This record gives sequence, C-alpha cells and structure tokens, in this order.
Amino acid sequence: MKRFFLVSFLLSLFLNGFSQTAIIKQDPVINQMITEVSAQNIESIVRKLVSFGTRHTLSDTTSKKTGIGAARNWIKLEMEKYAKESGGRLNVEFDTFTLPADGRRVLVPTSMKNVLAILPGTDPADDRIYIVSGHYDSRASDVMDAKIAAPGANDDASGTAATMEIARVMSKQKFNCTLIFVAMVGEEQGLYGASNLAKKAKELKWNVAGMITNDIVGNTYGMETGLKDNRSVRVFSEGVPGGETPQQSSSRANTGSENDYDARQFARYFKEVGERYVEQADVKLIYRRDRYLRGGDHTAFSREGFSAIRVTEMNENFERQHQDLRTENGVDYGDTPDFVDYAYTQKVARLNLATLANLALAPRQPENVGVITSGLTNKTSLKWEAPKGEKPQGYYVVMRETSSPVWERKFFFTDTKAELSYSKDNFIFGVQSVDADGHESMVVIPKAVR
Ligand SMILES: [Zn+2]
Repeated sequence: MKRFFLVSFLLSLFLNGFSQTAIIKQDPVINQMITEVSAQNIESIVRKLVSFGTRHTLSDTTSKKTGIGAARNWIKLEMEKYAKESGGRLNVEFDTFTLPADGRRVLVPTSMKNVLAILPGTDPADDRIYIVSGHYDSRASDVMDAKIAAPGANDDASGTAATMEIARVMSKQKFNCTLIFVAMVGEEQGLYGASNLAKKAKELKWNVAGMITNDIVGNTYGMETGLKDNRSVRVFSEGVPGGETPQQSSSRANTGSENDYDARQFARYFKEVGERYVEQADVKLIYRRDRYLRGGDHTAFSREGFSAIRVTEMNENFERQHQDLRTENGVDYGDTPDFVDYAYTQKVARLNLATLANLALAPRQPENVGVITSGLTNKTSLKWEAPKGEKPQGYYVVMRETSSPVWERKFFFTDTKAELSYSKDNFIFGVQSVDADGHESMVVIPKAVR
C-alpha cells in the first residue's frame, strides 16, 4: 500500500509538471498512539464487562455486581481514569433518557444511559465532531430474557473495549476537532441508545462529520466455513441515503455519483488511512448499509442524515452470537471471552485510531469544489477554495475509474485549481485538503459549475 502511494505519487508528479513536493507520509505521533493500543487492556475490559453476568438493557440497575447498572457505572469510572490521565481534557458523562414502552422489545418505560467521553477540539473554528462507538448491552437466545447469563464478549464487549482503549490513548493528545467515544445502550432492543444520540445531535445541530460503530470485532473463525482470518475487517457503508433530495437524485443520475455519497467516502478513507498505518490489515469495503437484512447503531445515524459506517469482523461465528450458554451435541454455545482474538480486536482499534486521528489532525475540507462544464473537452478542470480561515499546505485531487471502489491516483497541488489530462466522462474526481504532515481531510466530490 505504501509503495503504491509512492509510485502513484511519483507518476502523478511526472505527469504534472506543476505538482509539488511529496507529502504522503506517516505521522510519528499517530504511529506512537497506535503502538500504545494494548491487546491486554482490551482483554481485561472485555473480561470485566463479562463479569457482570448480563448487560441486558432491561436487567438490574441496582446491584453493584451484576446487570447493566453495574456495567455502565464501571465503564464511566474507567473512562474517568482516562480523563484524569488526560489532564482533565476528556469529559465523561451519562447521556440519560427514558424510553417509552415500544410494545415489542421494551415493555415498560425504561431509563437508559449511554456513556459518553468527549474530547473537545482545540481549534474553536473547527466544529467537526467524529463519533466512535461500541454497544455495551448484551443478549442471549431470547431477546427479552433480562436474567439469563449473557456474556456478550464479542457482541459487543469487543467493540466497547476497542472504543474505550482508543479513548484512553487519544485523550492524551490534542486534535483540531472534537472526538466523542461512546458506549451505547439498547442496541439489541432496537438501536435505542444510538437513535437517541443521533436525534440529539441533529436537534443540537452538531456537525457530525462521521460516525463509526464497532460491533462484533473480535472473532477470527467462521463457523460453518472453517475459515480463519485475522487480517480482514469489513467496513459497511450505505450507497444512496434515505434522505436524498430530488435535486441530489437528479444530480446523481446525471453524473453517475451513486457510489460517492459521504458514507462511501468515509469507508474509503478508513481503508486508505487504516492500511497506511496498520500492518497486516486488509479492510474490505462492503457496499451495503449493513449485513443482509440486519442493522446496527450506525443505522440510527444514517437515518438522521449523518455519514456513518459499521466495522465488523470478516467471519462471524453464530454458535457464539445471541446464544444461551449451553452444550448441545458436543458443541459449546455462547459468547464467552475465551473465544475472542484480542490481537485482532487490537488491530481493529488501531484502524479506528489511525482514521480518526488523521481526520481530526487534518485541515477542514476545501469549499465550493467545482468541476468546470462550460465547454466540451477531454480534459478535466477543477477549482475550489481553501477552508474558511485555514491555509492548508496543499490539496490532493484524487481520481479513480468509475468501476473502482477505491481512489487510484492522487495529484498534489498548492493552487486552488487544477487541470488534468483525464476526462471527467471516464473517471471520478474528488479534492481533499492536506497539511504539511500529510493529514488529509475527507474527500469532496465536485459539483458541476460553469
Ligand atoms: Zn451487536
């Protein structure tokens, strides 16, 4: 991957006399943070969460030892330790709400709590917020059984632990924009914690530039197929969002941009930057909102119009997921901590960290990005403006064939316009800001301008 970038870059340098210095590189600060992400810490968080017996959303809230109440209090206390280590910059709080009975998976009004750890950005002009989460609630075979053991080690203590571990590491650093690390509640009962937070974000007009849910990120063995894979990680992203306006729909039809909504850009960014920093990681882009007919906490954010992706292991083991602990015909069922591959969860946490850190350290996106359509030509002319109040080191124009899932070429410019000898009829283009340390913003797809 690194070699690909270098070769690709040198090629673009060769093709474009006006391109300048190469600045695609790894940031030692991000590398240092990646090193600090510990598989041991992740394992001890998972085992602690399992020790509460069940974390079913409707389980006991008064015991100090078992049930969801004890679990969320522990998560909050643990994150408060990270806050102390961060010099008090990480703010930990419950996001509390009462869910009315839904007549389905919640039978009486229930008080619910997400645990939020907020790391405020240091640039007051940068209002971007990135949210990363796992869900700490669990279930067994019967989704309504709040008493039976539901260890939920992989689903989803693994995602919760990955989120907490990167909160610990990242809160010692400063970022331009705000990061929110969340342990979500109510996922198994109907995405309730995430829906509440997504609605609140919309009401409060938060600029949620991206949301990642890590759900089921610790198993490396596929049951029926016998496949073992500790390299591959799936990232799910929706294509055309539910809230697409008629204007967007018409522009999509006229420009062939059905694969270029924000969630797809976010997924591509996760792959490119994650693989740039994390060894032996192969991010598989799955062009679906979630697995076939299924959903997760990112769905709640997609519904509110935010760019949201789901990170999940490559091969799931359904003898573990949503199962009562039992042995049947010599097969052990249940989601217990001995079956989690902690080095793999560490890898997933590192991919998240690289993506979030690179985004949060990057300049904001270029503005008014346009592709000039005033005359018919086989070249492509683009123009854009610097993000307000910022002067990035430069910009990448990214390019790919229409059938390619990932950006194939990057051209570097210091100016705010570019002319390329490739036709917009045959390629897709985008523009991103980049700083001197190589942190790139999310890609902006140009609008047709004259
Ligand atoms: Zn889950």
